[in-house]
Amino acid sequence: MPKVGLTTTVPVEVIYAAGWVPVDLNNLFITGENPQALVEEAELAGYPRNLCAWIKGIYSTVLKQRDISTVIAVTQGDCSNTHALMETLQLAGVEIVPFAFPYDRDADLLRLQIEKMMCHFDVSWRQVDEAKERLNRVRGKVWELDRLTWQENRVSGWENHLYQVSCSDFNGDPDKFAADTDMLLEEVRSRPPVEKALRLGYIGVPPIVGDLYQYLEERGARVVFNETQRQFTMPYAAAGLVEQYRRYTYPYGVFFRLADISREAARRNLDGIIHYAQSFCFRQIEDLIIREKLDLPLLTLEGDKPNRLDARTRMRLDVFLDMLR
Ligand code: SF4
Repeated sequence: MPKVGLTTTVPVEVIYAAGWVPVDLNNLFITGENPQALVEEAELAGYPRNLCAWIKGIYSTVLKQRDISTVIAVTQGDCSNTHALMETLQLAGVEIVPFAFPYDRDADLLRLQIEKMMCHFDVSWRQVDEAKERLNRVRGKVWELDRLTWQENRVSGWENHLYQVSCSDFNGDPDKFAADTDMLLEEVRSRPPVEKALRLGYIGVPPIVGDLYQYLEERGARVVFNETQRQFTMPYAAAGLVEQYRRYTYPYGVFFRLADISREAARRNLDGIIHYAQSFCFRQIEDLIIREKLDLPLLTLEGDKPNRLDARTRMRLDVFLDMLR
C-alpha cells in the first residue's frame, strides 16, 4: 500500500479510506536511531541553525524514506515553517498535497478542505464515514487509557503520551495498534494505583527531549494530562467528520485551546502545568497569553535538540516541584 507522510494530524480517515498508509513524520523522526544526526543533515543541506529542530528532522526523514513520495502539507493551523519545508521537499521531487484548517473553525471551509483531500485520494463520504467508525473504535481504547491515567492513576505519563501521540497515524496499522493498546490496558488494570504524586498537566507541542516524563516520576510527580497528544485522539466523539475536526483544538487559536486546558485542569485536579515551548517556534509567543489566562502554577520549559534534559532544565523542574509541595 502507498504511504503518505504527515507533518501533523489531518483527517486521517480519508487516507485510510483510500487504502493508503499514513506516516506521522514527527514520530518517525524522533523514534529513529539518531534524530540529532538528521537535524545536522538538514543544516548541512542549508537549513538555518536558528530554526526549529522538528522541521529539520522532518526534512531529512522524508529524504531518507524512499517509500514516502507524497506528503500532506498543513498550510494553515500548524506551523509557520511548513511552507518553506514543503518547498524544499518539492524541490527534492516529493509530491505535496495541501490542507488548511480554517483559523476561525468555519465548518463550510473545513468541509471544503476535507472534500478536496477526498478528491485527491478518490474516496466517497461513505468510505470516509466507515473509516471514521473503524478508527473511533481504536480511539475509544486510548480514551480509556487516558481515563485510567488521571482517574485511576495506573498509567505513566510517558505511556499516556506515547499512545495518544500515536493516534495521529495509528502507527500505520490500526488493527495492530488496537491490539497493542488492549494488551497495555489489560496490564495497567492489574497495577496498583500510584499514590501521593503531584499531578501535572503538560501543554504545548510534544517534547523533543526523551526523558521528561521519567524524570518527573523519579521526583514524585506525574503528568496526568497531555494536552496536544490527547487532541490527537479526537477525544470528543463528534457525530460527523467535519465536527470532529472542528472540535480538535490544536490547529485553531490559543483561546480555543485554553478553554479545553482549563476544563481538563479542573477535572483532573492538576497541581501545576508545564508549558513546553520548542526553540525557534512561533508558538513561544503564546506563552504570554497562557500565563495570563491560566490560573495555575505554570513552568515554561524550552527544548531545542532531540536529547536528554539538560542540567539547567532539571534544576528548574526541581524548583517547580518543590514550590508545588
Ligand atoms: S515546534 Fe513549532 S516551529 Fe517546530 S514544527 Fe512544531 S509548530 Fe513548527
